[in-house]
Amino acid sequence: MLQHWWQRLQARREQAALARRQIPADLWKRTLVRYPFLRRQTAEDAQELLRLTRLFLDRKEFHAAGGLRLNDAMVVAIAAQAVLPVLRLGLGAYDGFVGIVVHPGQVLARREVADDDGLVHAYDEVLAGEAMEGGPVMLSWQDVRAAGSGAAPGYNVVIHEFAHVLDMQDGLADGVPLLPPELPRNEWLPTLLGAHDDFASRVERAESEGWQTGLDPYGANGPEEFFAVASEAFFTHPQMLQQEHADIYALFQRYYRQDPLTETATRRP
Ligand SMILES: [Zn+2]
Repeated sequence: MLQHWWQRLQARREQAALARRQIPADLWKRTLVRYPFLRRQTAEDAQELLRLTRLFLDRKEFHAAGGLRLNDAMVVAIAAQAVLPVLRLGLGAYDGFVGIVVHPGQVLARREVADDDGLVHAYDEVLAGEAMEGGPVMLSWQDVRAAGSGAAPGYNVVIHEFAHVLDMQDGLADGVPLLPPELPRNEWLPTLLGAHDDFASRVERAESEGWQTGLDPYGANGPEEFFAVASEAFFTHPQMLQQEHADIYALFQRYYRQDPLTETATRRP
């Protein structure tokens, strides 16, 4: 009884949010042209992507930084790419944070590390995006835009940072997101770690022999970066991920409950 009341209340809230957050049809169409990997094969999936994008816009707060001016096209582009990974997981996976800070370009972050003698060394790191547990997600608009048509295939800063958000849902950035019961941790972890180690040695070989891996070499920086980088490829260049890491593609199919190889529409919207 109480549950029915709660569900009705939630449904009513959702309807109100959708009414508040309309996306003009031509703007949505332009977003799908600019970011073709967003196009879905079935009408149900296409509708769901639009619905979740509107709810995302209602629940999250966008902030512009560094003199950037945000417009509707920009926030819709970010929201649509952010909800693609949770198309079947639901927006609840993103409940841990509210703010999204968008900078015009990449950001220099001051880092400090202590060495074995306790000496603190400071250095600058260049960031295209950053996700912190419970904190805002930071994105460089230049990099968001670069993930559109004609981009380096497999590169996507929005999906990368939101994969980190999913990873940190359990409080740890370790490459293990909250897993469903049918996908146990003792199956996930060895598969991911094994693929990461293989990839790290391939990156080393590629660098010494002068060729390039399909997957962004940044994924060799640890299991959590491998999860984020492989997630980018899963959604934006599934053929490549399937060829290079068939085991990871199959694992992600079960986690994200999507199959981008068959569910991505190739035709124009
Ligand atoms: Zn990362």
